[in-house]
Amino acid sequence: MTELSPEPAATFVQVALNLPLRREFTYRLPAGTTARPGNRVRVNFHGRALGGIVTAVSGTTDLPPAKVKPIESVLDGDLLLPDSLLELARRMAATYGCSLGEALDATLPSVAKRRGQRRIPHVELKAPHDLARQAVLELEEKHQAQSRVLRTVIEYGGPMPILDVRRRTQTSDSPWQTLVKHGLLKKVLLAEELEELVPSLDEHAVRHELNAHQRAAVDRVVQSVTAGAHRTFLLHGVTGSGKTEVYLRILEEVRSHGRSGIVLVPEISLTPQTVGRFASRFPDVAVLHSGLTDAERGRQWQRLLQGKAKIAVGARSALFAPVQNLGLIVIDEEHETSFKQDSTPRYHARELAIVRGQIENAVVVLGSATPTLESIGKARRSVYELLTLPERAGAGRLPKILVQDLRAEPKEARRAGVVLSRTLLVMMQERLAAKDQVLLFLNRRGYSPVLLCPGCGEAVKCESCSVSMTWHVRRGRLICHWCCREKRRPETCPTCQHAGMHELGVGTERLEQAVKQRFPEAIVARMDADTMAERGAHERVLAAFRRRHIDVLIGTQMIAKGLDFPDVTLVGVVSADTGLFVPDYRAAERTFQLLHQVAGRAGRGEKAGTVVIQTFCPDNYAVEAAAKNDYDSFVQQELVFRKIAGYPPFSRLLRVLAEARTEAEAQQLLQRAVEPLHGIDDIEVLGPSPAVIVRVKDQWRWHMLVKCFQPTSFAAAMAAIGTVEDLATRTCRITLDVDPGSLM
Ligand code: ADP
Ligand code: ZN
Repeated sequence: MTELSPEPAATFVQVALNLPLRREFTYRLPAGTTARPGNRVRVNFHGRALGGIVTAVSGTTDLPPAKVKPIESVLDGDLLLPDSLLELARRMAATYGCSLGEALDATLPSVAKRRGQRRIPHVELKAPHDLARQAVLELEEKHQAQSRVLRTVIEYGGPMPILDVRRRTQTSDSPWQTLVKHGLLKKVLLAEELEELVPSLDEHAVRHELNAHQRAAVDRVVQSVTAGAHRTFLLHGVTGSGKTEVYLRILEEVRSHGRSGIVLVPEISLTPQTVGRFASRFPDVAVLHSGLTDAERGRQWQRLLQGKAKIAVGARSALFAPVQNLGLIVIDEEHETSFKQDSTPRYHARELAIVRGQIENAVVVLGSATPTLESIGKARRSVYELLTLPERAGAGRLPKILVQDLRAEPKEARRAGVVLSRTLLVMMQERLAAKDQVLLFLNRRGYSPVLLCPGCGEAVKCESCSVSMTWHVRRGRLICHWCCREKRRPETCPTCQHAGMHELGVGTERLEQAVKQRFPEAIVARMDADTMAERGAHERVLAAFRRRHIDVLIGTQMIAKGLDFPDVTLVGVVSADTGLFVPDYRAAERTFQLLHQVAGRAGRGEKAGTVVIQTFCPDNYAVEAAAKNDYDSFVQQELVFRKIAGYPPFSRLLRVLAEARTEAEAQQLLQRAVEPLHGIDDIEVLGPSPAVIVRVKDQWRWHMLVKCFQPTSFAAAMAAIGTVEDLATRTCRITLDVDPGSLM
């Protein structure tokens, strides 16, 4: 008897792929292979090998079975993405208008920047610090290059790759070699640096006795964690009020209930202190960051999944840490813009943290000295519960703030380019003489942001972008900050041939030069995107600053964040006005936040601190409120403007940006994108119109902004333009951005 052996029940899986296609794909599991929702698999997609996530498993398929291709392999063994994260990815895809595969890819960041373990030559300081500083001054006259090299290594604050020494100082091998010969430097071979997070070891994380305000905040949150239901708190605590201690105490409670926690910090390389505090207090912290190798990430994942690590600390993407039994998510410095991802999927970690909290019944704590209007708006409507820490903890007192009206400075000072007011100069002198440390803040890098022809008034523009190029002295190049294009500085005006271009405006590089001229004895370091390009550079400079090897630290917003240095008694804001006139509804808010945060760096120890804010607009309400440390009055004013204009927190924003080779094409595309929005209630559409920066990298840019005044109208608008990417053509790109970070 012939028996037809039945086909073994084939099992099919739905796989989400990291493609901008909003559907899943069906694959077959080869005999002997098992997979479950949450497994990562490798499949063949039109000839390409892609990694994807299994979202569903079934015994049947509507497709002709012969057409269904098998998966190639199951990756990561039995590691599964937890159901809660699958659900979070679904919600992310729906809210931010991306495919499930793109959302899932973000939950499993696979940067896999595996760097070799090559050993590369470095130089480090051999002579005692004082001696080296002395030598810098002595060499200045006759051996400029050596002086420069030595100064650079001191400022670097640790072993510095020789390649970087040469590049940064524009020198050959001979100066550093001479310094080695003279015993000032020594050469060492070190493993190429992995982007390993170095929690600052200087952090001891003293377990302070909580003050009454801290106690009340901790108790409220712990109560809520114990109750086991989702709730969002907004912890509004002035700078230095001990928010970190509050998070730590809540986490202690969370762990003692057998639950786990996630702490998100703005940019991990900028917050070694905060991370250090968490790492030193708890033995079971997993620090997650994008530089982990696949193997390391797998190990951290496993630790979290198995509950061996109960606390995950990291930047934005640590929100997806696969912790078990989540009890708490903390977003430290919730106002920071780095919580918004500016590539697909364009999620906002703060908003998504609340979604995760809802899914997993976890408590969310948003902390800031300057909560966003969105968050404070929700707190005022009792959507969030507000907790306040109105005073500095411990010895620190809020600094005294002086507003220096630059219009009153003598003309010559202004003409000299760098405006360091007499007040600021005198105070710097005084603080440096007292051996205190000074922070100078200027939110603009480069030497001067504009190179202007005094003949015809034209600035040197980037050929690919509609912006002027920034003059960088050390590189000897004009650089476009939008596309990084560089060019030589023209001798004469490219437009009218007038000889001699004028350097207009001040960047950190020019400021550094001016400060070094004024205070030749001081060790000055600069922290901005140009000097911090090397891995680990932040940690090194901050460590040097903490050890008091640096007297004056100059920087962009990089130095505005979470730094806690007790010997900083003077903070100078060189220009409060750089962001004030940016065409963005958040210009005032960002100015206030930045001023308030920078000011918060002063007077954190026993010694009193002073802040000097230089401005041409002392009457601006954001500047005024920052000078008075008056968050509430700023918010009150700003809410009025937002309400009138219908901006967040009174609406949710959707931005659609089209980029094309010709302006007409970008415009036409948006004209089509706007059509489905007609007739939707409770929305307002601005545009389509040319973007502020109408051309970047040779692409013409048009955009429109949709204000959605109700959750229902947001959903309707998303449904109407949700697949706006389908309009894209070979020559025109289109991007949908929910809660956009930039409107430029
Ligand atoms: P924030 O994050 O609110 O700016 P921090 O957490 O950095 O503030 O705390 C500021 C300083 O106050 C830190 O040096 C911290 O160790 C200290 N501190 C925190 N809580 C207390 C307390 N209850 N008593 C004394 N000092 C405290
Ligand atoms: Zn450019």
